[in-house]
Amino acid sequence: MIKFLDLHKINARFGVQLKAEFQEFLDSGYYVLGKGTTTFETNYANYCGTKYCVGVSNGLDALILVFKAYLQIGKLSKGDEVIVPANTYVASILSIIQAGLKPVFVEPNSATFNCEASTIKKYITSKTKAILTVHLYGQLADSEAISMLAQQHGLLLIEDAAQAHGAENALGKRAGNISNAAAFSFYPSKNLGALGEAGAVTTNDDELAKVVSELRNYGSEKKYENVRLGVNNRIDELQARILNIKLQHLDADNERRRDIAKHYLSKIKNKKITLPFYDGSKNHNFHLFVVLVDNRKAFMDYLLDNGIQSSIHYPKPPHKQKALQEFLELQLPITEHIHRNCVSLPISPVLTEAEVLKVIKTVNAFR
Ligand SMILES: *Cc1c(COP(=O)(O)O)cnc(C)c1O
Repeated sequence: MIKFLDLHKINARFGVQLKAEFQEFLDSGYYVLGKGTTTFETNYANYCGTKYCVGVSNGLDALILVFKAYLQIGKLSKGDEVIVPANTYVASILSIIQAGLKPVFVEPNSATFNCEASTIKKYITSKTKAILTVHLYGQLADSEAISMLAQQHGLLLIEDAAQAHGAENALGKRAGNISNAAAFSFYPSKNLGALGEAGAVTTNDDELAKVVSELRNYGSEKKYENVRLGVNNRIDELQARILNIKLQHLDADNERRRDIAKHYLSKIKNKKITLPFYDGSKNHNFHLFVVLVDNRKAFMDYLLDNGIQSSIHYPKPPHKQKALQEFLELQLPITEHIHRNCVSLPISPVLTEAEVLKVIKTVNAFR
């Protein structure tokens, strides 16, 4: 059976280093915001090319902290509109709502699955104060055009980079460094994944970095001095140590994912399967390889009968979720089409050449 994502195999590669790191962690006596955290924050900021990285509890909290910090700084006010792709993972939408802001759903391009600046522009009103761009499935949204648009209209640009670790634009800028502030998730299945929960905020903004790092730790600048109404959204020290080890392999892992994607794109030939757009550059880390197919259930059953697991990202769009009933009436045909027809094929740095060939052969033989 070809697993959709073999997390055990991915992490087993680092078994010896991880066990040694755990021993050091145990022996250190420092279990919260210790050396592992500060080292990871420095390493990940360097990796992204940003001035700051603040380690936090998970990706959703990273997004919420960015919005809450901008509210505290005064660059956002309750009720402001935030433009967001309609086909994103629900966390992007929840973060806007949890921060007391209003999401405005934008349709994506059905080939890239990302929103374009020209479409976003149509949704800008006098109430719009920010754009939350999402690099969906690991492919950078049109970063230059969107950041120009944000500048022209005086809007904050925030990246949901939870799927885009290491993706790099034509100017050599990485995800996390093409906006005012970015949120990352290190959920185990992400390209840079912890062995539990973790996330981070990256930014070049001195004030934002300071406020986020205070907010995540009870709003304190120094211990027992609470300067703002904070929360406990600290990154777990053990996860930070684990991420330091795995970060060293992120570029090689992303390269392997792109190799597999190039194989799929050049060798999958089946009129029933619509392949994703990819320009061949490093602007995609292929967190997911998503195809569109009319009869999704038949296709996924067929793959499974042939020993291949697949997945769906995502089966139901945010505006159709019960918790988001107030958006139920929105007309978002492209988003709904994607959610009806999308299938994620296996892609990961530990997929073997033989497995890749088997996926290609099996998909090509689907009738
Ligand atoms: C994974 C993910 C998140 C949330 O990350 P968690 O660490 O699970 O909270 C947010 N946005 C997107 C696009 C994601 O894929």
